[in-house]
Amino acid sequence: MNLRPVDEQRAVCLNNIHPLERLELPLLDAQGCVLAEDVSALWPLPSFDNSSMDGYAVVAADVASASVDNPVTLTVIDDVPAGYRATERVTMGTAIRIMTGAPLPDGADAIVPVESTDAGIDNVTIWQGSVAGRFIRRAGEDVHTGEVVLSAGQLMGASQIAILAAAGHGSAPVHPRPRVVVISTGNELVEPGTPLKHGLIADSNSMMLVAAARASGAEAFRAGPVPDDEQRLMDTLDDQLVRADLLVTSGGVSMGAYDTVKAVLSRLGTVEFVKVAMQPGMPQGYGTLGEQGIPIVTLPGNPVSSYVSFEVFVRPMIRRMMGYADTERPRVDAVCTEAMTSPEGKTQFARVWLDYGESGWTVTPVGAQGSHILGGLARANALAVIAPHITHVSPGDVLPVMDLRNRIGAS
Ligand code: AMP
Ligand code: MG
Repeated sequence: MNLRPVDEQRAVCLNNIHPLERLELPLLDAQGCVLAEDVSALWPLPSFDNSSMDGYAVVAADVASASVDNPVTLTVIDDVPAGYRATERVTMGTAIRIMTGAPLPDGADAIVPVESTDAGIDNVTIWQGSVAGRFIRRAGEDVHTGEVVLSAGQLMGASQIAILAAAGHGSAPVHPRPRVVVISTGNELVEPGTPLKHGLIADSNSMMLVAAARASGAEAFRAGPVPDDEQRLMDTLDDQLVRADLLVTSGGVSMGAYDTVKAVLSRLGTVEFVKVAMQPGMPQGYGTLGEQGIPIVTLPGNPVSSYVSFEVFVRPMIRRMMGYADTERPRVDAVCTEAMTSPEGKTQFARVWLDYGESGWTVTPVGAQGSHILGGLARANALAVIAPHITHVSPGDVLPVMDLRNRIGAS
């Protein structure tokens, strides 16, 4: 049996995948996206000289020698909270009460913090000296107008959203989240949460794959379950193609008599079905559909195979479409705590519990490793990667491990 190495199939899947074209998204919709171009400030930050303390705007020379033994009393002529401008000018002998973030009044060249005063309203007594410039935030000291505040390739997190908002932007030019449509296939599938008749199963794969795609950063939708009927499948693919940047199917790609996905897509000639040297997840398919050449990945139906294949082939595609430079799960080397076996000639992705303790990173297999063992998958937080030439893993052996621990929630 001629099996294709995992890395070769990954290269096939990623070969024609590029970051999606730049789209201007409202700032909060851009969270988790990668910037498609540099963004510059529309105005300086701060955009005006302002006070960094609650206190009094003064002429520094007035209070240069103020001390506890030699306090200085000034007439308070105005009061400026943040968001307002003083209407008066500070001159020798006067002060304006000012709050943090309020514009520096004309004539003033220092702020005396309220803690160094008697906090007076009409007059203020100051018992600490000052110098020009003290407690003033100068316009442009953070960012100049036109300065690049974020560069293409940067990930939009909370603080990146903040700088764009502060510097005049309501939206960000990003690579948008790919729209991923998940189509599950199988006559045996029923909607999760509804009662089962004997012989039927809940369509857990489409739920899992949509969740996994979302956790990878995509906008994902469920289509299906679609019965093993060629016309129904073709109609569904046609319908979904227009709203997808990536199609993912589950089931129907092995050697069975009702493997509809393989039957329908093989005829088109744009999708290649192969056996990949991996366990779980041997039957795989990749190709493109429609005039736009929308990529499609056909994942095997067994739930664990489906999940592992998603991790190995689909997640990197999603990440690349999103413009991430690093499309991969973090990898760590971990000491295996239990013996494991692995098939000769195939890369095994073993479901394990990854832990960090006194002896560093360790992994422990979770339950049986069959491709239908969804309970074990649900208890795993990592995949140990056992190379094709390794057939036995002993306690103490070190394995490379894909850390899946951030798979729930956002990217
Ligand atoms: P298939 O590749 O279609 O022959 O499916 C292989 C195995 O995976 C069978 O036991 C199916 O019942 C199961 N399976 C297929 N699709 C799903 C799904 N959407 N959810 C859960 N199990 C599935
Ligand atoms: Mg099937």
